[in-house]
Amino acid sequence: MAFHVYTEEQQDMIALAKQFGEQAVDPVIAEYDEKGEFPEEIVNTGLEMGLQSLDFPEEWGGAGLSTKTACVTFEELAKHDTGVACAFSVTGTAIAPIMKYGTDAQKAVVQKKIFEEGGLASFCLTEPGAGSDSGASRTTAVKDGDKYILNGNKIFITNGGYAKLFLVIAATDKSKGNKGLTAFLVEKGAKGFSVGKEENKCGFRSSNTVELVFDNVEVSEDAVVGGVGNGFKMAMYALDHGRPYIGAVAVGLGQRALEEAVKYVKERQQFGRPIADNQGVQWMLADMEMQIESARCLVYHVAELIDEGQPITVNGSIAKCMATDAAMKVCTDAVQLFGGYGYMKEYPVEKLFRDAKIFQIVEGTNQIQRMVVARSLLK
Ligand SMILES: Cc1cc2nc3c(=O)[nH]c(=O)nc-3n(C[C@H](O)[C@H](O)[C@H](O)COP(=O)(O)OP(=O)(O)OC[C@H]3O[C@@H](n4cnc5c(N)ncnc54)[C@H](O)[C@@H]3O)c2cc1C
Repeated sequence: MAFHVYTEEQQDMIALAKQFGEQAVDPVIAEYDEKGEFPEEIVNTGLEMGLQSLDFPEEWGGAGLSTKTACVTFEELAKHDTGVACAFSVTGTAIAPIMKYGTDAQKAVVQKKIFEEGGLASFCLTEPGAGSDSGASRTTAVKDGDKYILNGNKIFITNGGYAKLFLVIAATDKSKGNKGLTAFLVEKGAKGFSVGKEENKCGFRSSNTVELVFDNVEVSEDAVVGGVGNGFKMAMYALDHGRPYIGAVAVGLGQRALEEAVKYVKERQQFGRPIADNQGVQWMLADMEMQIESARCLVYHVAELIDEGQPITVNGSIAKCMATDAAMKVCTDAVQLFGGYGYMKEYPVEKLFRDAKIFQIVEGTNQIQRMVVARSLLK
């Protein structure tokens, strides 16, 4: 197996995530997957442990860990369940712009609701007509005295049914596309705000994915995060913050599939010997390891760049795209190595294979990541 040096703190966080995964997640997660249900109790335990606060400043109630340490923690959590891991990582995506660009009053709300009370947050950008093209957002925020009135729908929102805080990107000037977007901090319970349809998904079924409805939701002008017209910048900052974490989750998922495959090929006998004795199988395993390890190095590199305060947009796109493509390929190969059993729900790789697909789509599809990389080359 490829070798990495982890600090003592990182080893402690890996051990903590492993213990949480083995004790709280592994015994029950298949049932949640089957039912497509959010494992609220498990997530609440993780919230009590502070898994939503890993890389946020201690000054505001965060754990003050590095991005790299947060990455290795999410990587380990994802070996047990990506839905559970992403409840915490997506909370980080939503609150990152607030902790960077928000007012002290907004940071204090995050400190209380997310860190002290142990809550989830949602990042709300996607709409029925605005996925990759956020400039097409139709959710509006209209100024009315010292308030804004929000109207519209957001779809596919992770944690939406359970979150206490929502970072909502809405159009304050539709004629300006991305430059007319503004970010708002909306709290659960705001009048006119409701949770709509819950999605029934192919994989990633323990993650809560819902529609959110804004029907004349009134928020104070103090709810604007990062300034009027800066919503696209806030969204891109949130996604930049989230990309190494999606990458780390994909690495953990791929690693789990590889470990399951290695165990299986040593046990499964065909032609009178373990299938692991075939060079064709060994080379598949070697390729799987090389893909996961390459992805891991890219993800750790982005995390280290963030920790050094360097710009990461292009590196983040490369790492997210490579890691999630690797996870999909490795999980597909793991199913192949299990043969017919790999396609059955009694065996673990079937779920991993279904779970892998989402990461090539969320937080910017992998085509959009390639677009970011290509643009950086051609500009
Ligand atoms: C389970 C789940 C959870 C999610 N969680 C969240 C969340 O918490 N918050 C949130 O805001 N959103 C969330 N999303 C939405 C997700 O980010 C979007 O689905 C994604 O950005 C793609 O948007 P779309 O589905 O509208 O696809 P589209 O943008 O319609 O894209 C369709 C296809 O066209 C391709 N395409 C589009 N434009 C281009 C282009 N210029 N060049 C090349 N190819 C292109 C895309 O890559 C894709 O393959 C979630 C989605 C899912 C399924």
